[in-house]
Amino acid sequence: MDLGIRGKRAIVCAGSKGLGRGCAEALAEAGVEIVLNARGAEALTRTAAEISARYGVTVTPVAADITTEAGRAEVLAAAGGAVDILVNNAGGPPPGLWSDWSREDFLRAIEGNMLTPIAMIQALVPGMMARGWGRVVNITSAAVRAPIAPLGLSNTARTGLTGFVAGTARQVAPAGVTINNLLPGMHGTDRMAALDGPVAAAEGITMEEAAARRAATIPVGRYGTAAEFGATCAFLCSAHAGFIVGQNILADGGATNLTL
Ligand code: NAP
Repeated sequence: MDLGIRGKRAIVCAGSKGLGRGCAEALAEAGVEIVLNARGAEALTRTAAEISARYGVTVTPVAADITTEAGRAEVLAAAGGAVDILVNNAGGPPPGLWSDWSREDFLRAIEGNMLTPIAMIQALVPGMMARGWGRVVNITSAAVRAPIAPLGLSNTARTGLTGFVAGTARQVAPAGVTINNLLPGMHGTDRMAALDGPVAAAEGITMEEAAARRAATIPVGRYGTAAEFGATCAFLCSAHAGFIVGQNILADGGATNLTL
């Protein structure tokens, strides 16, 4: 399917690896020019070069911490004026116990996973509205639909973003701009390995065993891939997705046991 977005310009935040990279790859395959962000310059430069070579589009790497005001300013400056597509992403907060988290822990999580995507939306959506077309996809988490107890910092911050998007998406839709959230369940990325590590250590099993046990809890029987996640993201950014507004799309292999 031609996604109808060839020549559009995107910012993909936190995209040198994992799900963000999957989104960047799928957008590049659809012919989108990309400003690609992550903190570590080495992996970022390599990823940008690989994607550009594979799909023949311009991929501009910007090494910056997207959760800081200075980092966001760098990314926005590199993109210049007209940005049509924004994929919001950042690293997730660490796991822990509800009674241990300090005010600072909460503020860090809210800064990274709620206020940062909101700031990017506030910076870019007015221009999209003025031009009459835009797409925003926020990578959040299945934890927004069904809480994951040790990821309470994530549950808290991402639910706040979800509330903001629910109200805002309806306000910007008349101008041709859609905002949706894409909710990953368990995907085989570095982040998942970081979460499997403590489980393996606590239970005295290998990482592979921990991963296999968790994968067995997913109806499809495996972790998701960044490529299939990215393809879903690219569809939400496509010309065909203009009627999908303010939704929370679960990509979790059926793991979240919900009727609706
Ligand atoms: P990942 O494989 O660890 O990749 C994270 C990417 O984000 C890397 O490119 C990393 O590069 C970049 N990054 C992290 N913090 C950043 C920052 N402050 N500024 C700019 N770039 C940053 O993670 P993932 O699995 O793709 O997860 C992406 C998001 O989805 C996370 O928020 C995660 O919590 C959430 N999520 C993931 C899963 C899953 O199964 N994988 C499930 C639910 C939710 P640098 O380190 O070089 O900056």
